[in-house]
Amino acid sequence: MITPQLDVAVAARSAAGHDTDLAISVRGLRKAYGPQVAVDGVDLEVARGEIVAVLGPNGAGKTTTVSILEGFLPADAGEVRVLGEDPAAASRAWRERVGIVLQSSAPEAELTVRECLELYAGWYRRPRSVDQTLALAGLTDRADRRGAQLSGGERRRLDVALALVGDPELVFLDEPTTGFDPAARREAWRVVAGLRDLGVTVVLTTHYLEEAERLADRIVVLRAGRVIAEGTPRTLGARDRAAAVITFTDADGRAQELRSSSVAADLQRLSAEALARGHDLADLEVRRPTLEDVYLELTDDAPTA
Ligand code: ATP
Repeated sequence: MITPQLDVAVAARSAAGHDTDLAISVRGLRKAYGPQVAVDGVDLEVARGEIVAVLGPNGAGKTTTVSILEGFLPADAGEVRVLGEDPAAASRAWRERVGIVLQSSAPEAELTVRECLELYAGWYRRPRSVDQTLALAGLTDRADRRGAQLSGGERRRLDVALALVGDPELVFLDEPTTGFDPAARREAWRVVAGLRDLGVTVVLTTHYLEEAERLADRIVVLRAGRVIAEGTPRTLGARDRAAAVITFTDADGRAQELRSSSVAADLQRLSAEALARGHDLADLEVRRPTLEDVYLELTDDAPTA
């Protein structure tokens, strides 16, 4: 609950123009590659400590947007503030506060995991300890392996560790688990959950809806360079208000599915009918549309076949 005092404090801070609660603030962001418009007026805010997943079909503008936020790409137009600075003109001190995990990287093949982390730690004024970083990335038992001997999943974990060794406030994860087996994916999720516990702000792009659902406080969906929806995993696309789906097998053995906006009443009716026929409704299920149902509807990517 927000107390009146806190309300006043928030109002005073907004009036003073200090967005201290925002790690990222973007207004009217645009970027084109020649005639190809990649980002077409994106507004985005990310609070400190928040984990935001940016979703969208191929070519939606995710990588372009994130590259601008990371300071790798200049914007054509719009106002971009990341940790209070314009990333295109950011200071060295700013770079030290931001951790970036790119889609592909090539850690030093001849160095061990520990040596590699020590090398990177040397570039920061206040690095996280190497042992702590190893633990955070789940690499403690791989510390003495050379880069060249790491599996794909382990290399990706090293990428994450390298982004964390500077003890960043904000971390960008670009498709952090692409190509992972299910166990490695769970492990990566554990790492991100660890960042949440440390209060680190995380922006991640992903094509895995389960990943977004598990990790994100908020999901932002891009399509054709625009934000077409945003919300929590539960509320995205009015998922929480969408009609529930009730499925069951009726007394005649036929599978039935019905959309219900009044679950209690429908269940009472079904139950009364079943009891009257001495039927148990043993496989009765009530479910919400999945995040994937909602996402596909939003992005119009549903298979037409
Ligand atoms: P994906 O899910 O495939 O990674 P994305 O959402 O990250 O896609 P972007 O890579 O930002 O999308 O691309 C947005 C649009 O800009 C696409 O139409 C893409 O073809 C185009 N584009 C991206 N990079 C360039 C470039 N360097 N030169 C020209 N066009 C580009």
